[in-house]
Amino acid sequence: MPDQPPNTDTLRQLDQKYLWHPFTQMQRWQREKPVIIAEGEGNYLIDSDGKRYLDAVSSLWVNVHGHRCPTLDDALIKQSRQLAHSTLLGLTNIPAIEFAEALINVAPASLQRVFYSDSGSTAVEVALKIAYQYWQHTGRPNKSKFVALDAAYHGDTIGSVSVGGIDLFHQIFHPLLFSVERVPTPHAYRCAVQDLPHSPKECSAHCLAALEALFQEKGDQLAALVIESRMQGAAGMLLHPPGYLASVAKLCRQYEILLICDEVATGFGRTGEYFSCMAENVEPDLMAVAKGITGGYLPLAATLCSEEIYNAFLGGADKTFFHGHTYTGNPLACAVALASLRLIDESDLLNTVRKRSTTLQEQLTQHIAPIANVGQIRQLGLMVGIELVADRASRKPFPPAERLGAEICQRAREHGLLLRPLGDVIVLMPPLTISPTEIDFLIQGLQTSIEEVLARRTELP
Ligand code: PMP
Repeated sequence: MPDQPPNTDTLRQLDQKYLWHPFTQMQRWQREKPVIIAEGEGNYLIDSDGKRYLDAVSSLWVNVHGHRCPTLDDALIKQSRQLAHSTLLGLTNIPAIEFAEALINVAPASLQRVFYSDSGSTAVEVALKIAYQYWQHTGRPNKSKFVALDAAYHGDTIGSVSVGGIDLFHQIFHPLLFSVERVPTPHAYRCAVQDLPHSPKECSAHCLAALEALFQEKGDQLAALVIESRMQGAAGMLLHPPGYLASVAKLCRQYEILLICDEVATGFGRTGEYFSCMAENVEPDLMAVAKGITGGYLPLAATLCSEEIYNAFLGGADKTFFHGHTYTGNPLACAVALASLRLIDESDLLNTVRKRSTTLQEQLTQHIAPIANVGQIRQLGLMVGIELVADRASRKPFPPAERLGAEICQRAREHGLLLRPLGDVIVLMPPLTISPTEIDFLIQGLQTSIEEVLARRTELP
């Protein structure tokens, strides 16, 4: 007889007694009744009381083919019968080799080498360290500073926090961080460069001019620019204007500054391409990937780099890249990642994503955009941010203390949806296998949740 887990109430008590949850105010958590996920099935999660929810944020932006995907389950079981773990320090293993080859085959042509780690944060951290060390080896040690965008998010390790720019998360750590050159984010809806609202095209031009001015002034001190490809996720799904990334890449080439594309959130089909930068034919020098890499099964990440960068590390001990995590190249994770990548190809998933994105866009336009407090809907493939505002004309936000976004997501649970907001931006990041019927269900539940919460708000004295 398998051990039965304790009942839901006991599990909640144990959670609230022993666990410390990430990005969570635990004082609030102690007052809540957490949903305990017990099972996954396709695009749904099922809680310990048997209630089903559509996993509308792909379990924090990682799920690709749905839960309990037979192909990935089989790959994991098969690999577990061979080998669970062995190190890449001084040894190598079959899944790590095979997946590296497969990854390079779908990545932008500039990228030729794979360095494994285990989270998006470490993948970015590795990219920063490689970029820094590259210039040390190539006789230009003054090129040691990084450029990042306002409101960037690249992870939670100290290096990736240094290049991050979300005050709520990062400000407290400022004394621990290295200094970074900041450039404005091309977000026309709330543009930092000009006070007046203007078109995405004008916004992009202003931001690129600021970037070029920095490159002109300090290019000989700059090692690399790091950027989330085309969509800044954690900042609230800030969609960059078309062509902006391609222009950034061109300027980086011109001024000899390495380009690091952070594809942690946007990679593995999320935007309708294998990697988002490919939509603008951008060939980065380094690229960080994680999240969807294993289809949402296991923690794995990779930093890809060009052969030119890799070659600069060849030589004696002084040229070695002294970085590596214990579980680097874990065979279980790599075997599942390989199966996931093959399944993306075999199931023609990129094409499906493009079709579903259109369906989702139509539904959003028809049912969500007309809601008076919806300020802007930003979408790139199956990656959506719906910004709620107190006043559409002035774009005035709701008071943060109202936690409107959080309240809507809480309400959505009653309508069978699991969502997680970014402030008052409601995020939709469904598994890439979401069906048209599930899109209907998602939009209906979301519309009802937003309307119910807004109606209750206006009833308040
Ligand atoms: N970069 C981006 C663009 C991300 O969205 C995230 C996570 N949301 C990270 C890096 C960090 O990834 P992880 O949480 O796996 O460390």
